[in-house]
Amino acid sequence: MTPTVQELLAKVPTDLLIDGAWRPGSTGETLTVDNPATGEQIATVASATSEDAVAALDAAAAAQTGWARTAPRERAEILRRAFDLVTERAEDFATLMTLEMGKPLAESRGEVTYGAEFLRWFSEETTRQYGRHAQVPEGTLRMLTARKPVGPCLLITPWNFPLAMATRKVAPAIAAGCTMVLKPAKLTPLTAHYFAQTMLDAGLPAGVLNVVTSSSASAISEPLLADPRLRKLSFTGSTAVGKQLLKQSADNVLRTSMELGGNAPFLVFEDADLDAAVDGAVAAKMRNIGEACTAANRFLVHDSVAENFAARLAERLAAMTIGDGLDDGVEVGPLIEAGAVDNVEALVDDAVAAGARVLTGGKRIDGAGHFFAPTVLADVTDDARVVTEEIFGPVAPVVTFATEQEAYELANATEYGLAAYAYSEDPARLWRLSDGLEFGLIGFNAGVVSNAAAPFGGVKHSGLGREGGAEGIDEYTTVQYLGVADPYQR
Ligand code: NAD
Repeated sequence: MTPTVQELLAKVPTDLLIDGAWRPGSTGETLTVDNPATGEQIATVASATSEDAVAALDAAAAAQTGWARTAPRERAEILRRAFDLVTERAEDFATLMTLEMGKPLAESRGEVTYGAEFLRWFSEETTRQYGRHAQVPEGTLRMLTARKPVGPCLLITPWNFPLAMATRKVAPAIAAGCTMVLKPAKLTPLTAHYFAQTMLDAGLPAGVLNVVTSSSASAISEPLLADPRLRKLSFTGSTAVGKQLLKQSADNVLRTSMELGGNAPFLVFEDADLDAAVDGAVAAKMRNIGEACTAANRFLVHDSVAENFAARLAERLAAMTIGDGLDDGVEVGPLIEAGAVDNVEALVDDAVAAGARVLTGGKRIDGAGHFFAPTVLADVTDDARVVTEEIFGPVAPVVTFATEQEAYELANATEYGLAAYAYSEDPARLWRLSDGLEFGLIGFNAGVVSNAAAPFGGVKHSGLGREGGAEGIDEYTTVQYLGVADPYQR
């Protein structure tokens, strides 16, 4: 049964989690969390200072050795219990996410399933970390390799997937035997706090996971990145912030995982099944109200089908129900804050001033909350800002191409390289796409490809490292080589 908002909020800890206990920040400062659908305040949460951040790292560092020595099965079972608890509490998590982030309830439920899956997947991976044994070519040494936890980690997450971005980092860190300090986005801390409580309920020992929400992200990251006890940064957020954090990490020679921005092309070839392509386009564009790093940002369509495709996409987007994500039947929620609406509006206005045609939408929706109408733009030039920048909103610009080679050139003409999508009924094209597209993930006749079992991550300025899959755990381990004198060659 869906809980009432008051009942739900009463369950969510609003302090900082340090060494297994929820406690206020050292100065007693708080920050407010608002509902983007109404603009109303939902909660206040403790705001951590640098001193609190260091206290959180103290706890993580103190817990590291003991935690690394726990049996893999023990860590696996904590993760499995956490999966069961998140699943049991799915309605709580979904409602909380819709309240603080705005996505429609059905999508929040989808994120709970996706986010929980990282707990189950890494629970299973915990007991499958292998090394290798070989004789060196000269025969003088026996070589053994072992995977060791990298050490205390700082995990920084964005607001757009408040649960899944946390579980995608916390679960592999636990699996590997690392302790951690989690800094959630200040716009959506409630989901992370409730998740951290759920981890404690699943039996996670004190100090392994610490949570420091703060109104000042740099007050947390700067002292921790400079602290020699920290060994790893895993960041998901914008490319601009990621670059700054990479520079700061260099001084402390930290291991880094960087899941940064995207500018996904969605290619529709002349032989595509257009019904499937339009369905895929709606999913790839409108999931999370377009506020996803994997969101289709540019529709590159063969000129023989572009008019038809754009008209059908516009018809679908125009029919979507916009409103408060908690209301039944709503398919498009608000953007995260007023500034996000301003950004999207500026991109649309810029394209229209350069000659783009608005097939549907094109404007903000006045009234309470931060709404922008689902929009399709035709006749967009490939240098328009709406094509070259990450939109992070419900806007679909359509650009045409004439040849497959031109499609690849347009698709790759970006500093980003996270997700790409392509629709074609020619199976041979899949292999050419794989060679022709410089992206970390490619959906072929599929508009949504994220999966806990698959490696997620980008190339170029979209980031470093992979989350999920068998690769996800490697990001939290380091390889130790043991060279043992061969008994017959000594
Ligand atoms: P953001 O970079 O503004 O913030 C991300 C996180 O970094 C937040 O926790 C924020 O508080 C923190 N942060 C901001 N400035 C900081 C600083 N100077 N020092 C330390 N931490 C700082 O990004 P956002 O607006 O929250 O998220 C949207 C961006 O995230 C988009 O670019 C999107 O593509 C990207 N994203 C990428 C992935 C991926 O897996 N590649 C997934 C989700 C979102």
